[in-house]
Amino acid sequence: MNKGTRYTVGPYQLSLDITNKCNLRCLHCYNASGENNVMNEELTDNEVKDFIISLIPMKLLNLCFCGGETLLRKELIYDCARMLSNSGIRTALVSNGILASEGVIHNLYFAGIKSIQFSIDGCCAKTHDRLRNQQGVYEKVTKALDIVRKYDMEISVSFAPTSFNVGELEDLHTYLESLSYKNKMELRLQPLMPLGRGNKNMEEICPTEEQYRRLVNTVNKINRSVPKVKVVWGDPIDHLIRFPYLEDLPMYYTSVRSNGDIVISPYLPLVIGNIRKHTFKQYWIGGLQSIWKKKIPRYMASFVKCIDDMGTLNEKFPETFMNDIYIDMLEEDLDDMNVLYDKMAK
Ligand code: SF4
Repeated sequence: MNKGTRYTVGPYQLSLDITNKCNLRCLHCYNASGENNVMNEELTDNEVKDFIISLIPMKLLNLCFCGGETLLRKELIYDCARMLSNSGIRTALVSNGILASEGVIHNLYFAGIKSIQFSIDGCCAKTHDRLRNQQGVYEKVTKALDIVRKYDMEISVSFAPTSFNVGELEDLHTYLESLSYKNKMELRLQPLMPLGRGNKNMEEICPTEEQYRRLVNTVNKINRSVPKVKVVWGDPIDHLIRFPYLEDLPMYYTSVRSNGDIVISPYLPLVIGNIRKHTFKQYWIGGLQSIWKKKIPRYMASFVKCIDDMGTLNEKFPETFMNDIYIDMLEEDLDDMNVLYDKMAK
């Protein structure tokens, strides 16, 4: 092996919910941040740091700080990002932008954060603030975008399509194109997930089929013009359909919630362990790396073939992020369906 060749001994991509608390209560929030059960027992700063240190020998390619609103724990992020980037692990961060001041972005950049995602759900305060459920957020996030573009960081802007903002995508794209920035910028969209507050508010916010169709045409039209800011359409449930059929491929993505729970999909109400009980490496070696070979996750994922099926999942299983099924894969058998039935009967 050539000197300097890197190889991973863990997932390529790990997302860590640094907190599941939030300073907003967005109408579409799939994990009901600020109101879910997970945030009641968050890892302490020292527990998070120990977890980060334990990941370093696993040589991930990328760790994303997610949430909740990540910048509620900004000091902790600076420390963790510094440790990771000093070890050659790329770090990214998702934020609603409210707390992203000049000083905070400066510190994130010098701690080694390589990519930031902000949410902008329209091209005016009226629509963005309506979805974000608070006045003044649009002004703050556009200010944050203005600051971050001065730094050599990749920028991703996420846009959640709703019945009242779909017509603004093109104008938002034009606005982003008009900005000058040092690095790559993309505009990301993904359909609303009927989970958490998104489920509760679906009737009010969900675009009609016709609106979704027009949106897809708009995305295609923008991308045909080969823009600087590419529009990327994300399919949130693609992994639930594909992974059970690609069981021999190494698992490339895992998520750890703010209370240490390990999940294999943000949209399945299944927790397969907790880093307070065993180390992440023990889970990885103990079968997490080939988790989609296991019967229980395959069975649960089999109910989802399109986004509307999330409703079936909601009816059949407990609510994600509220009452997830906990089956510790190092202590119980994820191939034994009776384990699942027993948990559901309780
Ligand atoms: S969508 Fe993001 S900003 Fe909004 S409540 Fe959820 S975590 Fe907070």
